[in-house]
Order: sequence, then structure tokens, then C-alpha cells
Amino acid sequence: MGECLLTTDPALAVTAPVAPAEEVPVPPPDAAPPPHLSPSSATMFRQCPRRWRHRDIERLEDPAGPAALVGTLAHRVLELLLNEPAGDRNLDRARNLAREAWPAHAAHPEFARLGLDQGATREFKWRVWRAIEGLWQLEDPATVDVRATEQRLEVQLHGVPFVGIVDRVDHGPDGLVITDYKSGQPPRAAQVEEKLDQVLLYAGAVAAATGEQPARARLLYLGATIIEAEATPAAVGRAAARLRDTWDTLEAARRADEFPAQPGPLCGWCPFLDRCSAGRSELQARADAGWFLPATAPGLRVLAA
Ligand code: SF4
Repeated sequence: MGECLLTTDPALAVTAPVAPAEEVPVPPPDAAPPPHLSPSSATMFRQCPRRWRHRDIERLEDPAGPAALVGTLAHRVLELLLNEPAGDRNLDRARNLAREAWPAHAAHPEFARLGLDQGATREFKWRVWRAIEGLWQLEDPATVDVRATEQRLEVQLHGVPFVGIVDRVDHGPDGLVITDYKSGQPPRAAQVEEKLDQVLLYAGAVAAATGEQPARARLLYLGATIIEAEATPAAVGRAAARLRDTWDTLEAARRADEFPAQPGPLCGWCPFLDRCSAGRSELQARADAGWFLPATAPGLRVLAA
């Protein structure tokens, strides 16, 4: 999702009528469903089956927004940092790694697509740096006993073909620790259990791949807080059962080719808004009720067109 800077500029209020056109999604002839389910794909399906269909069956472009790209670069720098000798994992080294990683990131088409001017690029860099240095508010990376970074895992979990990339696997005092970095805002209390599913599934995948059951699973909200859970077989089993439910629902939707639109506030960031009348109606209703879209939300442009 894009950044959550709510604008108070009345000029950005959306008052244009909802476009009536509705494109019926039709998969290209060679479209095949994805062979695996990742935590992010499962989350997207739960949030809106139709968006999932556009992205994962029709394979329409779903470009990353600024917030996602901030996270991408922060993740890359932290990956490089944690692969340094423990004694070199300091802020100076992180700054140098960020400088070294920047040209490739800036040259990437997804970043170029944002079209940021000089000031916005500077702000982007600051956001990346705040995320990177936010690690030190949570832990001293020089004390981390790293076992693996960016580990890709493909396993069967409760009969679901699961795929995931684990940011970090560490040796902790009581066993392996699964860690995933987050550069966004920490979740509300009601969302914590759902958010922890991702790292608990990673713990289950590590156990399935190596036979070694991790002890803990953590979400590091950089600069903010750590949310963690004991990765007991019972906790992992509950997360895997929820994944199984999603997989079964998804398979049923695929057999029937029924992927209903599930409108909500995230429609403002959906790249398929121009082909979804339900999403446009949702945003229009919210705009009519005085809801302001962030200036960076792509939905603002679609509704104002
Ligand atoms: S606009 Fe909203 S309802 Fe439509 S596909 Fe996107 S997220 Fe789903």
C-alpha cells in the first residue's frame, strides 16, 4: 500500500462522477494459475479476489508504489549489512552500503516509473535511511548470529504448495529465530495475529525444509517495535490451517472462475481501478462522505479523470 499521508488539501477531494465502463476480466489463452501460494498472495486474495485474479491469473502489471520501493531498498541494504562480519555492522557501514546500492535501485524501471523530482527523490532516500537506521532502535546487528538471509523456501504446508523468502534466520539463545523486516506502520492490536501468520508460516517452512523447528518468529517494524510469537508447532499449525482455508477457497474460485470484487479503502491503491466499477463506486462513495485520498494514491487520478 502507498504511504498514509492524508492530505487536507480540498483541491484533492474527489468529486468527478464514476465512470460507467466495466471491463470483464478475461485471462489470456496461455494464462496459468501460479503454482505456489505465498503469504503476500494469500493476503491479497483475502483482501480482494478480483485484484488477485487480475494480478496472478491475468498477469496484469501491479507496479510497486513508493512505500514498497522504500522497503525494497531498505531490505537490500540490511541484507548486505547482516552479511558483513559482525564487527562491521555499524551505521557507517550501512550508510556506505546504501550509497553503493542506490544507483542500481534508481536505475530500476519500477523506480523510474514513480517519476520523482529532485525533492521527492531526496525525501524517498530519507525514508529509506530512516528505515535502515531504525534497526538500531530494535537491536544491535553486531550481536546477531546470522544463519541465512533472503532464504527462498518452497515446501508443502498442510498440503498447500507454499513459497516464501525469509529475510533472516538467526541462531538465538533458545533456537532458530525467524525475522522479517517491515518499513511500514505497526499493525493495530486486532491485526497482530493475522500479521504474525507470515513469519509463523516461514517458521513452518524452515522446519519442513530442514527438520529444525524454529523457536521464535518476529516482525521487526523498523524504527518502531518488534512483534513476535513463539513458533510452537501449535502456533505454526494454526497459521498453516488458515493458509489451507485460503487455498481451498482460492481453488474453488478458480474452478468456478468467480473472483468477486471486494471493495474497501485499499481500492485507492489498486492499479486495476480503471477496470473495476465496484472499486470506483466505493471510492466515489467515500469521497462523497468527505474521505480524502492521499495525494500519492493512484485512485485519485482514476477518479479525477
Ligand atoms: S478496485 Fe477494489 S474492488 Fe476492484 S479489484 Fe481493486 S481492490 Fe478489488
